[in-house]
Amino acid sequence: MELNRADHLIMVVEGAECECCGLAEDCTAEYVGGVKAEFAGKWLCGLCAEAARDEAAKKKKKGGGGGGMEEAVAAHVSFCRSLRSSPPAVRVADGMRQMLRRRSVELPAKRSEGKSEEGSSPAVGFEE
Ligand SMILES: [Zn+2]
Repeated sequence: MELNRADHLIMVVEGAECECCGLAEDCTAEYVGGVKAEFAGKWLCGLCAEAARDEAAKKKKKGGGGGGMEEAVAAHVSFCRSLRSSPPAVRVADGMRQMLRRRSVELPAKRSEGKSEEGSSPAVGFEE
């Protein structure tokens, strides 16, 4: 374990596994440490990190107070785990799609002329 020969150049690479979707990535220890510091000691892949940040920001906006990140991570972890039936990439992509769709519902509806893909129900599952 000679970790300090050339410490200005050290690039310790370790395998990190996403706490949410299980995606494995090789990262520098520094990067892993930074992510863990941000997400309550858990390492998240880029996609899940984005989602958790987004979640935390939403909670903050609603006036949830501090400590939001840990909750947001926990929420995203269980969200991802609930989707465990499909392969990781599909799961996450799917989850992201749902999330984006939910967000776009909050915006004024954009209508494109010609093809209307739904037109039937406004029941897109608002949670609150
Ligand atoms: Zn992930």
